[in-house]
Amino acid sequence: MKPLIFKYYYTLLIVLFALTACKKDEFINLTATLSSDSTLLETTEDTPIIFNLELTEKLSEDLQIEYEINTEEINKYINSEDFESYVEYISDLGDQWSRSNFNPAGINTLIFPKGSSILKIRIPFFDDDSLEYNEEFYLKVRAKPSYGLTIMGEIKPIMVTVEDNEENIDIGALVGEPIDDLEEAFEGALVAIDEDFNFKVVAINRKENIDREYKAAYELLDERSTHQIKKDIQAVSQSGEVPISMINLFYENEPLFDFVENMGDLYEEDLWLMGLNFYWAFNAYEDFDDYNNDSTIPIEYNADGAFGAALVHEYGHILTLNSKNELNRRVYNPAECSSLFSFEDGCFYKESVLNQFNANFNLIEEPLNKPEFVSWYAETDIFEDIAETFTVYVLEEKINPATAESSGALQKINFLKSHPTVKDKRSLIRSTLGNPTLPPFGFEDLSAFNKRRKGKPISCLHQRFSKHFTSK
Ligand SMILES: [Zn+2]
Repeated sequence: MKPLIFKYYYTLLIVLFALTACKKDEFINLTATLSSDSTLLETTEDTPIIFNLELTEKLSEDLQIEYEINTEEINKYINSEDFESYVEYISDLGDQWSRSNFNPAGINTLIFPKGSSILKIRIPFFDDDSLEYNEEFYLKVRAKPSYGLTIMGEIKPIMVTVEDNEENIDIGALVGEPIDDLEEAFEGALVAIDEDFNFKVVAINRKENIDREYKAAYELLDERSTHQIKKDIQAVSQSGEVPISMINLFYENEPLFDFVENMGDLYEEDLWLMGLNFYWAFNAYEDFDDYNNDSTIPIEYNADGAFGAALVHEYGHILTLNSKNELNRRVYNPAECSSLFSFEDGCFYKESVLNQFNANFNLIEEPLNKPEFVSWYAETDIFEDIAETFTVYVLEEKINPATAESSGALQKINFLKSHPTVKDKRSLIRSTLGNPTLPPFGFEDLSAFNKRRKGKPISCLHQRFSKHFTSK
């Protein structure tokens, strides 16, 4: 029986060979129209997108397909770390997915195999733990025919949206009151800073319209970033005993006040939120002396020192308004306070910097010699006075000693220079801050308005836009 079986297979093989050889000879087609079944795709970062390319006719040669991820025109653009370095694809004739990598120019080349009419493409994304904007890109697909192929039809760029799958922290729990509409509650992003000064984005307003510069600025506080702006915030925060616990960063061409606020519960430790407008870290007024000209020009990070000065000013508030060393927030009645009292903050301890500053410069009979203040903004109230004086103390290159005839401003600077809580901060901050310099601005005023948070206006008491100094 054996020879018979052998013969049977032998015959079958010959028939198969004849059939395929014959078919190959007959099938020649070098022309087809290429199309895609999608123009708009949406997904979350843990789920790949899948779409099909279709040919109207089967081709007798392989067709090369090129595609790229293009973000040139996109504000909420996807970052290269957020998608994988490869895509997978399979044709209607295939039985397993092939993988293809992007080349260094960001182009990926796939093969649409001859004889097939559908090519399924699967693009995976990197499922990270970072809180991010929902990101977008255009997928640009084109045929790269060779072997005499003629491919008609043009595939329009496919718009892809990749939603982030991380959630905002409960801001309502943080501020101690429920927040119905997060998008109304705050602008920009909240970044938590832990005790080792590591940054983590914990909330983000995804409904906000942002531009490319805004997104780039926001990413400077990302865990992966090593930008100087992050180092500067760390430097300032590390200089004192009370750290910055959270940053609210926003980015807008407005003369908007930066701010600080103690979010800590009255019976808890300090939990300081600092609001910083990153716009002024990368832009400056074109002509500061011309009131009518408010156009801005891009600058290198903190090139004019304005952003660094704002940072130091705001930290000056934390240094002088913290519960840890400076004041008792549980005193509401001025009659129960024998030193400096503020309805907003509480009762300052006798040894506190502000109480002594008040005793030395406000509760005195003899008027101070002029100028009494280091800047126009310092005239606002004692809280701004000390924050401005602190800024000049830290950032002024040389601090002259004061005598009885010296100006009030210089006496105030020298008071901080000799105060045990403050004196070492100058060298600590200057040694690590990227550009420890005072901005070269004069007295020009910008009308400022109160920033709204939690739907209600915040007092401008501890807010400011730190661009103007009248020092020296
Ligand atoms: Zn201030």
